[in-house]
Amino acid sequence: MKICILPGDGIGPEIVAEAVRVLRVLRALQLDCELEEGLLGGCAVDATGEPYPEATQRLAQQADAVLLGAVGGPQWDSLPRAQRPERGLLGIRQQLGLFANLRPAILYPELAGASTLKPEVVAGLDMLIVRELTGDIYFGQPRGIETRVVDGRPQRFAFNTMHYSEDEIRRILRVAFAAARKRRRKLCSVDKMNVLETTQLWRDVANETAAEYPDVELSHLLVDNAAMQLVRNPSQFDVLVTGNMFGDILSDEAAMLTGSIGMLPSASLDANNKGLYEPCHGSAPDIAGRGVANPLATILSAAMMLRYTFAQEDAARRIEDAVRKVLADGYRTADIYQPGTRKVGTRAMGDAVLAALTGVKE
Ligand code: NAD
Repeated sequence: MKICILPGDGIGPEIVAEAVRVLRVLRALQLDCELEEGLLGGCAVDATGEPYPEATQRLAQQADAVLLGAVGGPQWDSLPRAQRPERGLLGIRQQLGLFANLRPAILYPELAGASTLKPEVVAGLDMLIVRELTGDIYFGQPRGIETRVVDGRPQRFAFNTMHYSEDEIRRILRVAFAAARKRRRKLCSVDKMNVLETTQLWRDVANETAAEYPDVELSHLLVDNAAMQLVRNPSQFDVLVTGNMFGDILSDEAAMLTGSIGMLPSASLDANNKGLYEPCHGSAPDIAGRGVANPLATILSAAMMLRYTFAQEDAARRIEDAVRKVLADGYRTADIYQPGTRKVGTRAMGDAVLAALTGVKE
């Protein structure tokens, strides 16, 4: 199993280091994996002038899976658009054909108090958001900002294009139906079919695809209602599937339900389950270099990698159980800390997970 490791910027190197330690321990125990590190994002711009340099492209293409920290930071925000770290991220997603983004949102009972919602509202939350990642208004052409004469005077005019083909919709729907099949067999498809033709097609294709999965119950919600339902009664959801832009927004909303964005892993898959695995959060420049970032989202991303790309369900469960154990034992990084628990930094949280994995006391 070839794994390409891209620590990225900000807290990326700190949190990825802990996930790599977890993979190394599993390698010592059972896992046959080869890890190779590369540059992506701002660190790559600094070293090569490109956010997704050729050497990284080769590494990522040859690997079976990629583990990424996060990219970006204020020092690169004024660069030309093509050189921005985020371009590297879009570039790797597009080049690897990663069209399916899977984000579980699970409320660990120990962290119920860290959610901004009342504990009784978030209790039992265990959902998976499946977001289409390579289409929609984020990639649609034409796009741009140009000066046009409007009402007799020149004005700046901006435009983007939202589009989906039925094939693009069907393949993401199939990923979502298949995921629902492995869970509670409920799939909610989110669109805005009352206003947008693109999502009318989305709903039609969802209904057509449902015929292939008679054992999964399909429902539909308009995106505005879905945003409300996520804060009103989030545990009603099992799997939620939606397009790129709605998914971007709803998955961050779901992230907050769980208390900390530092707890949320993600997977982005191609048609053959090759995947890029990364935490849902960004590079957190405000806390970078201080050793306080929560590494659990990245460690849980490594677990998703073992599950989805390498079909190593046991190893994935071992990591997830170790994370549950450290939470039950009271270990907390600052973002999830509550009085009465034990505040630890990034490295000590990694140590606790390793100890739980190997059964060795620190
Ligand atoms: P962010 O997710 O980096 O940070 C938001 C808040 O959450 C900050 O207060 C941060 O300290 C906190 N936080 C995030 N991850 C944490 C962790 N593991 N442990 C503890 N606290 C954590 O979002 P932002 O501030 O909007 O963006 C910062 C930079 O990250 C920007 O340059 C942005 O472009 C980039 N970004 C990258 C990705 C990615 O690489 N996938 C995603 C989002 C944002």
